[in-house]
Amino acid sequence: MTSTDVTLSPTPSAAASPRPYRHYVYAYPHKTAYRALPREQARLRDLWADEPKNALSLYFHIPFCEVRCGFCNLFTRIGAPDGLATAYLDALERQAAAVREALGEGARFANAAFGGGTPTYLSATELERLCDLAEGGLGADLRAIPLSVEASPATATADRLRVLAERGTTRLSLGVQSFVEAEARAAVRPQRRGDVEAALGRIREAGIPVLNIDLIYGIDGQTERSWTQSLDAALAWRPEELYLYPLYVRPLTGLGRHSTATTGAAGSDRSEAAWDEQRLRLYRHGRDHLLAHGYEQVSMRMFRRTGAPAAGGGDYACQTDGMVGLGCGARSYTSTLHYSFDYAVDMHRIRGIIDAYTARTTREFGHADFGWAMDDEEARRRHLLQSLLQAEGLPVAEYRARFGTSPGEDFAEELEHFADRGWLDAAAGPEVLRLSPEGLAHSDAAGPELFSTAVRRRMAAYEPK
Ligand code: SF4
Repeated sequence: MTSTDVTLSPTPSAAASPRPYRHYVYAYPHKTAYRALPREQARLRDLWADEPKNALSLYFHIPFCEVRCGFCNLFTRIGAPDGLATAYLDALERQAAAVREALGEGARFANAAFGGGTPTYLSATELERLCDLAEGGLGADLRAIPLSVEASPATATADRLRVLAERGTTRLSLGVQSFVEAEARAAVRPQRRGDVEAALGRIREAGIPVLNIDLIYGIDGQTERSWTQSLDAALAWRPEELYLYPLYVRPLTGLGRHSTATTGAAGSDRSEAAWDEQRLRLYRHGRDHLLAHGYEQVSMRMFRRTGAPAAGGGDYACQTDGMVGLGCGARSYTSTLHYSFDYAVDMHRIRGIIDAYTARTTREFGHADFGWAMDDEEARRRHLLQSLLQAEGLPVAEYRARFGTSPGEDFAEELEHFADRGWLDAAAGPEVLRLSPEGLAHSDAAGPELFSTAVRRRMAAYEPK
């Protein structure tokens, strides 16, 4: 529900102190590095033939929202007119049949997630159908595995929440962004505080074990004081998880279209440097506030209430297990290929891709369209990135067991730069590679520095559409 990646600028030199907000690395590589795949090399059955399939992740992407938030560059459209939701579920059913056939016997899912867009844009009846698809269509036992679902305040209605709770949802993530109405308006996500509070009440009543609340900092006009108001309003619900996202303004988003070349955000005359400073200040304030209120830091963005259960859907991706994504914006990962359908941010393009998706036959779902081949070097980078950006860091023995070398041998130059900037925790000892608090604060600068030249080139060559 909350997207925060940004177009990648050139790599800063080792000596220069890079800007802190370059790219949110929630997956490596980013979809803008994917390219069209030759059909004959991308048959799903071949791609999955030799993969371990006993602990897969399942993801359903629902590309509909009631509004388009100004900061959002996720793959989603406003509304689903003329039976589009039904047509989309019909297409998901055909895709599920193709995927099940490709996976063959013995595939087991260890966790599941419904993301978007806003999965709860679907009605309660449609959500029932989505769960049936995961269970009957793909064989996932939703009540036995962690199931994470994203929702917006307006669509977190009692009937939908009842269905989700009954079908085994263990984590409900609510995109609030700000409890301050003027800030929500500035981020082009107008909502009333009372409606947000009512939605939170309904979620707690539904009894879903883990509540996550997403908040954003760096909104024009946001101060420590107003940020604290949002943090405290969220803390009043004792959420098991809180995600604090820095605001990004990207090309083709609502805010991006309105910003000028020299401004940091729509309607603002602040400089990029001043905006960076505001975000870093609010980040530190938010982090310290949550740490003082019984939360532990899991990553730059994620905080978990001490003692709360981990219910899946967090931002730690398993390093080796496969991902099976269904829906037009979902990614899938085998050990050698990351793939998805076409990707766009512009509303017209997104609508075209969704329409093309709903028109596909089961047979046409039998191959991957766009992707990135993962070789050994990229697998090492991905492992390092995904572990190092977690607060607990990377156990060196785990890396060595998988690759036969240490991260220090494979990424000596990059890690030296990190150490020079004070981004590594010297107290972690030789067996753990861990970011310092300052390194964690600069996760969105550190992550992109670990991208390979090939990924960087592909991303730079990508034309936003
Ligand atoms: S609710 Fe807003 S942030 Fe979430 S996916 Fe929809 S448009 Fe994007």
